[in-house]
Amino acid sequence: MCAIEAGKRGRRVAVLEHADRLGKKILISGGGRCNFTNIHCGPENFLSSNPHFAKSALSRYTPEDFIALVEKHHIPYHEKTLGQLFCDRSARDILGMLVEECRLAGVDIFVGVKILEVSPTGGFIVRTAKEEFHAPVLAVATGGLSIPKIGATSFGYDLARQFGLKIREPRPGLVPLVLDQRDCGNYCDLAGVSTEVIASCDGQNFREKMLITHRGLSGPAILQISSYWKKPESIRVDLAPDAKVTAAFRDPKIVRSLNTLRSELRKSLPNRLADRWLELHSLPSWTNAALEDFEQQVHRWEIDPAGTEGFEKAEVTAGGVDTDELSAKTMECRKIPGLFFIGEVVDVTGHLGGFNFQWAWASGAAAGRAL
Ligand SMILES: Cc1cc2nc3c(=O)[nH]c(=O)nc-3n(C[C@H](O)[C@H](O)[C@H](O)COP(=O)(O)OP(=O)(O)OC[C@H]3O[C@@H](n4cnc5c(N)ncnc54)[C@H](O)[C@@H]3O)c2cc1C
Repeated sequence: MCAIEAGKRGRRVAVLEHADRLGKKILISGGGRCNFTNIHCGPENFLSSNPHFAKSALSRYTPEDFIALVEKHHIPYHEKTLGQLFCDRSARDILGMLVEECRLAGVDIFVGVKILEVSPTGGFIVRTAKEEFHAPVLAVATGGLSIPKIGATSFGYDLARQFGLKIREPRPGLVPLVLDQRDCGNYCDLAGVSTEVIASCDGQNFREKMLITHRGLSGPAILQISSYWKKPESIRVDLAPDAKVTAAFRDPKIVRSLNTLRSELRKSLPNRLADRWLELHSLPSWTNAALEDFEQQVHRWEIDPAGTEGFEKAEVTAGGVDTDELSAKTMECRKIPGLFFIGEVVDVTGHLGGFNFQWAWASGAAAGRAL
């Protein structure tokens, strides 16, 4: 996006990609259909040590701008849920569109380029295994650490450090959580069971599906809250949002028994999870107080995750180049004129649902219009 915008302004642009092909992450995104934006995108959908930083770029390149580009290329798409836009056919449509826009803007693309060194010399010299590129400006769009096996490297952070820029510790975001031995022993054999929950941590709440896995918890609610979680904090899960699982017991005619409670709980939770919950949370008595205590536990499952599945499984890297180092308008380094950082390498991290791409497009456009 940065190359396209700069190329359209008549700049001579070279894109250097070390992988053997472009846009691998676009191709695997959204289950192969690329959730390329979200129509409800706003600054509240992003984490950053400076929550105001993303506002400027996001407001100057909006989901509507990207949708206009998608429509110009006659790419069929649909809204899946919660404003998330996906390709009808394949993520290849989005990659093809960006490559075509680069071609129209006269951008040169080089793939399989191993960058050995970047030196500032008034402008910048980028030394690769084969040749040298000299340019007055350099935009770093090398992403985060997520999914090393498709080409993620620490290059962007290393370069930032080389230039003396501050980094907010990169950490896996939108990542499944691993339960400790005791919780995993209690629940992980239910792998595949999923239910709608509210997951909460650090003042944030996400109401979406939670999925039990062989090692812990995943699903959209957990992925979302994982970006806010830091050890040793706890995560709270409301397993039955809106429901009062013991409501039937207000009726004096109802028999206070395990069978009744099981059938009531099964109305709100998948059967296997309901049954397991009852095995693990036996009532000491059938008093109103004991029932109320049981009710509270269903709505406040406190989890202390052992950790996350790490960068191998993380959809995004939280943290990155400190926003204090960059102009929010252009993404240029304050200390080093001509050096820009855009996309995921910056300490701006989107929620699940098309927000990370929207940040990549918007920050790329902001830099491309300025450099
Ligand atoms: C499995 C998965 C699914 C996802 N699905 C979605 C989704 O549906 N919607 C959404 O909004 N977000 C999604 N994301 C997140 C989104 O893909 C990223 O946030 C986004 O691609 C970041 O864009 P970027 O250009 O900053 O970095 P990237 O897309 O990661 O691109 C960085 C590029 O730099 C190259 N590179 C790295 N190091 C070097 C180096 N040393 N030299 C040269 N080149 C280098 C890489 O090979 C890569 O091509 C998903 C992520 C994953 C892992």
